Amino acid sequence: MKKFFAEIILILGLLSACAGSSFAAAWVNFPTSWDIGQAFAVSITSNVDYSKPVVTWKGRSISLNVEQGGAGKISYGLLGSDVRNTKPGDYEILFEFEQGGKKYKASGNIMLKERQYPQEKLTVSPKMVNPPKKELKRIQAESKAIGAALRTMTTARRWTTPPQPPLSNITLTSHYGFQRVYNGVPRSGHNGADIRAATGTKVLAPFAGTVILTGFHYYAGGSVYIDSGNGVITAFFHLNEINVKKGDKVAKGQVVARSGSTGRVTGPHLHYSLILGGQFVDPIPLLSTSITQMLKKGTQSQVNSL
Ligand SMILES: [Zn+2]
Repeated sequence: MKKFFAEIILILGLLSACAGSSFAAAWVNFPTSWDIGQAFAVSITSNVDYSKPVVTWKGRSISLNVEQGGAGKISYGLLGSDVRNTKPGDYEILFEFEQGGKKYKASGNIMLKERQYPQEKLTVSPKMVNPPKKELKRIQAESKAIGAALRTMTTARRWTTPPQPPLSNITLTSHYGFQRVYNGVPRSGHNGADIRAATGTKVLAPFAGTVILTGFHYYAGGSVYIDSGNGVITAFFHLNEINVKKGDKVAKGQVVARSGSTGRVTGPHLHYSLILGGQFVDPIPLLSTSITQMLKKGTQSQVNSL
């Protein structure tokens, strides 16, 4: 505990004498250690209003919303680390906000721990392992469009927990993080969960949000990406039919697509990805928890007192 508090660096948290005002303070909450690939929750809370809350994690600055709750005002964040590009170790997390005309920063470390994700051998069409030359341009263009969509950052929080499960029946056929070997060739880990679904099954939006990208992509097939604010993006792949278009506002639970078997697949299923601040994480544990429960696994520390 002592070590943890030593790691909280208060850059601009000087005491100021506010004659006549009651005690006011702000706190941040984050876990001190977590598993690679798993989502975690963070918050800023204060009994006095503040503005421009931002959390910086794994190279990305994430704008948070200020809402009623917690000690009076609260900002919620959902973060994580991508199993495909995260090594175990300490990672810095930085919180920033403005309050009473001053800028505050608080930083700490989160120790990311290795989790064993098994290997999975799959057999697919050879052109899905080594794409023909004529497809390379298309694959590059799609990867650029996906990268741009994943950098979407909106401040309003439209995600609420737990999410709406994307299918009425959730039976997993392949888990997040599985190290995939396609036709004997190792490829990066699985960036989402595969859920059993006959072609044509209705796919429901996990959160309210805005559609930021749709298309029939080389590897992912029929794809829908939805932004729900604060860097929280959900995506579905291998769809048979897409019922929304870029710019559409969707409600939580709205039918956005029908599942299928398009792209690099071994059969019909729904691929569901949860992307938090650009990091693909395991989408399944979040289906049965809430932001409040997740925050209980963190440690709260005081940033300032006014
Ligand atoms: Zn998948």
